[in-house]
Amino acid sequence: MYLYNSATHKKELFTTHTPGRVEMYTCGPTVYHFAHIGNLRSYIMEDALEKYLRYEGYDVNRVMNITDVGHLSGDSDAGEDKMLMGARREHKSVMEIAQFYTDAFFDDCRKLNIKTPDTVQPATGLIPEFIAMVQGLLDKGYAYLAGGNVYFDTSKLTRYHIFFDHDEEDLQVGVREGVEEDTNKRNKNDFVLWFTKSKFEDQALKWDSPWGVGYPGWHIECSAISLKYNGEYLDLHCGGIDNAFPHHTNEIAQSESYLGHPWCPQWFHVHHLNTDSGKMSKSKGEFLTVSLLEEKGYDPLAYRFFCLQSHYRKALVFSWENLDNAAGAYRKLIARIAALKPDDGPVDGAVLEAARQKFIKAVGNDLNTSLGVTAVYDALKADANDATRLAIIGDYDRVLSLSLLEKAAQKREDDARLSAGASTSAGITVTGEGDPAIDALVLKRAEAKKARNFAEADRIRDELRAQGVELTDTPTGVVWKRV
Ligand SMILES: [Zn+2]
Repeated sequence: MYLYNSATHKKELFTTHTPGRVEMYTCGPTVYHFAHIGNLRSYIMEDALEKYLRYEGYDVNRVMNITDVGHLSGDSDAGEDKMLMGARREHKSVMEIAQFYTDAFFDDCRKLNIKTPDTVQPATGLIPEFIAMVQGLLDKGYAYLAGGNVYFDTSKLTRYHIFFDHDEEDLQVGVREGVEEDTNKRNKNDFVLWFTKSKFEDQALKWDSPWGVGYPGWHIECSAISLKYNGEYLDLHCGGIDNAFPHHTNEIAQSESYLGHPWCPQWFHVHHLNTDSGKMSKSKGEFLTVSLLEEKGYDPLAYRFFCLQSHYRKALVFSWENLDNAAGAYRKLIARIAALKPDDGPVDGAVLEAARQKFIKAVGNDLNTSLGVTAVYDALKADANDATRLAIIGDYDRVLSLSLLEKAAQKREDDARLSAGASTSAGITVTGEGDPAIDALVLKRAEAKKARNFAEADRIRDELRAQGVELTDTPTGVVWKRV
């Protein structure tokens, strides 16, 4: 495939150190709060990339860290400890917070059809490896001790700002973050490898080290975790564009200095999800989670569909209206797939192979998932029988992961049930468009009415209206439709 490489600022032919095998690393979440859907955009696009590489036939070894220690609220060793912030906010221990939000993250991933990487490593589980790497950097003269902390010495590098073409002065730590400069640092961009002087008295997680009791800096965990599970030669490193500087820049500095050879040639960065008022963030009030989407009646996969429709290197603007449009298009697409007949003859292998090549040409051009979605619409009209069309769509969905065939099969079942005579409960008949969740709400409202609880009945009607569902009470029951 051709993939844009942030390290060279060019679209390049994707290559691997070992032919046929991809060593892939993804920066994982800092588990102090729920992931917002902007964070999850990155994981959706990285998941599509991994699945696309597998689709092309690569054997992929994907590794991800879980940051449960050492990430301060500024990305550059400044600010508050994120894990302590979470623990204090919720009156729990740091480890309880880590477990709770790790579980919540993988719940969200499951709902969005994001595959769990082959290896997931919490940072707290690999402290001896971090210490060994820091010691190695000290031994080789790339690090120094000052004020109780171990720092990486960026003046020892020939090139530091890998990902940026523009003026490096703009990116100086401290200038960008607007925080006080750490006077122990010899150079502005130096960063902490190991802290022993914590400004947080209640720092819960500390480990013994040759430099005193303390905890690792954030950046060292990704270098050490990748080294352990991906080996010395990483092919592809992924993350949100926010991670490019200083986090990824520092990872490269550490890994290459430690290894003494180039480390990872290809870097994949997913751009921001914005709202009308700017970049989505946890501190800005616009805190949108997968649970919130579900509460509002959206299928989480409609959000995945929304993300796939745009390119990962463009900022994507989230609004409820945009999501509504995507959800409507996704629903209609499922309905069209459901209308295909699964058993109308044998699958035409030649047509399927041609469709596969078309998909590779489209999506293999810098992960153009939007063209991948378009290919599904083309498959609906393919010059072949329905069984072949469904086989093509199922093949594409190995990458898109929109549960297209499963949802279509479910819709066929629901439609059959409805045409056999609407869903009935307690003498109330509901006829609609084959959505069991809506049927259940309509029934609940009818029951509330029967019990003369009109306030509740009105509330449910409003809730349905907000989801674009219109109700008509008829002598034989309630009919609903989407408007
Ligand atoms: Zn990382």
